[in-house]
Amino acid sequence: MGKVYIVGAGPGDPELLTVKALKVIQKADVILYDRLINSEILFHAKPGCELVYVGKEDGKHIMEQEKINFLLYEFATKNEIVVRLKGGDPFVFGRGGEEAIFLKEKGIPYEIIPGITSAISVPMYAGVPVTHRGVASSFAVVTGHGSKGQFPDINWQSLAGIDTVIFLMGVSNRQKIAQNLIDAGRDPETPVIFIEKGTTKEQKEIESTLGEVARGEVKVHPPAIFLVGEVVNLRDKIHWYEEALGGVRI
Ligand code: SAH
Repeated sequence: MGKVYIVGAGPGDPELLTVKALKVIQKADVILYDRLINSEILFHAKPGCELVYVGKEDGKHIMEQEKINFLLYEFATKNEIVVRLKGGDPFVFGRGGEEAIFLKEKGIPYEIIPGITSAISVPMYAGVPVTHRGVASSFAVVTGHGSKGQFPDINWQSLAGIDTVIFLMGVSNRQKIAQNLIDAGRDPETPVIFIEKGTTKEQKEIESTLGEVARGEVKVHPPAIFLVGEVVNLRDKIHWYEEALGGVRI
């Protein structure tokens, strides 16, 4: 029986990979990878390594989780090193926990390697710190999608009291999300930012307000981070990525 490594690949920039992740990618016999994985990371695989795409398109599952679990089991019985490569961090809306539980139940040895989550690094590449002294002393990372594709079941009252709120998978429900925050007491003038394809060369930033998003006035394409909070105003002072690598600013 081989070993399975559940590995975080970081948010997009292929250099935002841990040394530990790079080492197992270089040794892997098989890599099962997700949709948001930068293909440059796969170039580190050794010759002959089997690359298996198990991504899910928005809404429609190309491969069900049970099938992925089955493949992990199959590959682990026939190979020494199996890497399950996931975008960002495996335990932040990445179903890494479910795969670990499955492997444990099957008696397959595994290790888990953290990754840099898009939730924090993508705002950083847009010049937005998730906390900042005197501006934001708390942040929350929240899904914008329910587990079965419906609107998520969220305690909006408590969320409205968090300084910085970061939604992942929140593009399609953005209007309803913004309205719920306003209804829970958040000021419609609160600044927000959407960051599409963050940390890549195609990164695009769209600033707006909660009220404008609630009125359906903001056009966004996934994958994007939807961040709400006064920290967005710091962007003018901190932004750096466009200067460093080029990009589009709106
Ligand atoms: N485990 C991942 C998140 C998986 S959920 C992590 O820790 O980053 C997928 C969601 O993450 C996307 O819908 C989007 O909201 C966000 N996301 C991931 N990569 C992104 C990127 N490069 N730019 C913007 N959003 C990203």
